Amino acid sequence: MNIEGLPLKVKTGEYINKLFDANICDVAVFFIVYNKTNNSIVYKGISRPNGLPRQRSSIHAEELAIRYCYKYDIRNRYIIYIWKWNRSGKIKSKFCCERCTLLINKFNYKDKIFTIDKGNIISAISNNPLKSLSYFI
Ligand SMILES: [Zn+2]
Repeated sequence: MNIEGLPLKVKTGEYINKLFDANICDVAVFFIVYNKTNNSIVYKGISRPNGLPRQRSSIHAEELAIRYCYKYDIRNRYIIYIWKWNRSGKIKSKFCCERCTLLINKFNYKDKIFTIDKGNIISAISNNPLKSLSYFI
């Protein structure tokens, strides 16, 4: 399978394709925290429901990333990328939900969070963020 990578310069050995898992693609959001001054990935991970779909307790990718940045981005160099993969390894865009958008604004990362759409890097903040699905359950 050809897993689509991010359109970013990254140092050797920091490929993110290892995060790919076809079994969780329907629900998982992937993220990296990227140091733009030296093109390195400093943190990466996956957000997925915790097996309790009726509870609002799953932590979104943006939250995981922003927590990391808040703690470690002392020099203000980090940016965040979030995305989804479909089962055949193609990247799909992922926009922040309403709750994450508030969080991102609070920490001043509005201009530092991106997603990938058709190979292009675009803002992950939309004008009309959706309420998190789990809010409705
Ligand atoms: Zn969210």
